[in-house]
Amino acid sequence: MENNLKFPTKPFRTKGGAKVPHRKNTAQCESVVLTDIPEVVIPMSQHIGAPCKVAVQKGDKVFVGTVVGDTDAFVSAPVHSSVSGEVKDIITMTLPNGVVTEAVVITSDGLFEKDPDLKPPVVESKEDFLKAVRASGLVGLGGAGFPAHVKLNVPKGKEIDTLLINCAECEPYITADHREVLENSWAVMSGIYAVKDILGVKRVIIGVEKNKPDAIKLLKEIADNEKADPDDVVRVLPLKSSYPQGAEKVLIKATTGRVVPAGGLPSDVGCVVMNVASVAFIADYLKTGMPLVRKRLTVDGSAIRNPRNVIVPIGTPVNRLIELCGGYKEECGKLLMGGPMMGIALFEDSAPILKQNNAILAFNVKDASTAKGGSCIRCGKCVDACPMNLVPCTIVRAAKNNQVDVLKEYNTMTCMECGCCTVVCPAQRYLVQSIRLGKAILREEAKKEKGAEVKK
Ligand code: SF4
Ligand code: SF4
Repeated sequence: MENNLKFPTKPFRTKGGAKVPHRKNTAQCESVVLTDIPEVVIPMSQHIGAPCKVAVQKGDKVFVGTVVGDTDAFVSAPVHSSVSGEVKDIITMTLPNGVVTEAVVITSDGLFEKDPDLKPPVVESKEDFLKAVRASGLVGLGGAGFPAHVKLNVPKGKEIDTLLINCAECEPYITADHREVLENSWAVMSGIYAVKDILGVKRVIIGVEKNKPDAIKLLKEIADNEKADPDDVVRVLPLKSSYPQGAEKVLIKATTGRVVPAGGLPSDVGCVVMNVASVAFIADYLKTGMPLVRKRLTVDGSAIRNPRNVIVPIGTPVNRLIELCGGYKEECGKLLMGGPMMGIALFEDSAPILKQNNAILAFNVKDASTAKGGSCIRCGKCVDACPMNLVPCTIVRAAKNNQVDVLKEYNTMTCMECGCCTVVCPAQRYLVQSIRLGKAILREEAKKEKGAEVKK
């Protein structure tokens, strides 16, 4: 590991990937803050880990930043009201990913009054810092939704020497991180310094795809500025614009040359990876004490009248967001929460915006037409395209035939569902969908094995 501790002058080679169009239509559009939101719905499960328990009651007065849900579980993050107003109801709802959770419905009074108890956290130690990050409600803003205080609490015995800042933003259409850099660059560098001091690392690499030349230029100027980077530990590494450059393990390989073992974590190879918007949020939180209540995201796609980046209160219904972007200009054939490669198709447009959402995309009927799903011709293209060195065609066959041993042997759980195999398949097979089925089979099997162990 020590030998690699130089700053790379160019990215390391990575395997696989797929050619997808960039379509960064909104990269030059300044973000618009939308506040005309009559009602928000705040789900208790907006992260990986234990859901929160509702901490308010119907009729309660809440402010922007008031805690409305929390739990004692370590892998979790509190949720806060994103508007000031009154708790209208506590409901049970199904999220787009199928998770059933409680949610707090709040009627906004339109005033956006800040909770009077909010103040910047006092941070004098690493413990204070981790406590503050937890209290802020921060989860990975790049889409994963992993609680940030857990990620930053590196297990004992793991030595971290590199902080990687993920600004690749490789999914087509999405430009929210790009705009974060251009509109909030002070916070990006300030957040990087806060995190690097806590981790005690001597090297920070910001990975940015080359299709964001203005962001690269700005970040380089800041990193070269002695006041912004007094320890001279931050470097910007322009990356090839290719999907999935922003996937955590791909980014680690491209920026450090290190390979995370199957089933392993970035900390196994001395790295912590943070999304660029997450570090910027940490800086803002340390300065103001305002928890995670707003989200910047891209609204785009062939069915949207005025594509743009917006900053909205968390819990805003998707249909309100679309209205505020001029509505649909054509019949919507497909609505996605997230990018076209990894996003989740929405079955209704009343779903609330969650902390980790970075895009809402709506496509017209023509663009929404789906693949035919033919038979495998054994060309091997899916194998070449897989950045995780998997054999997608074999995993799919095993999933369809319920072959648990084969699914395990072929490391099915390592699949990050990037969709590269599906994009390159000449037979237009539904590979990712079938691999998800394989993962579900393995999760069920793990539950059965655990149950059998408990009985013993
Ligand atoms: S098998 Fe999984 S990780 Fe590999 S290309 Fe397909 S979706 Fe991506
Ligand atoms: S790319 Fe498609 S057709 Fe080719 S081997 Fe993979 S699944 Fe079969």
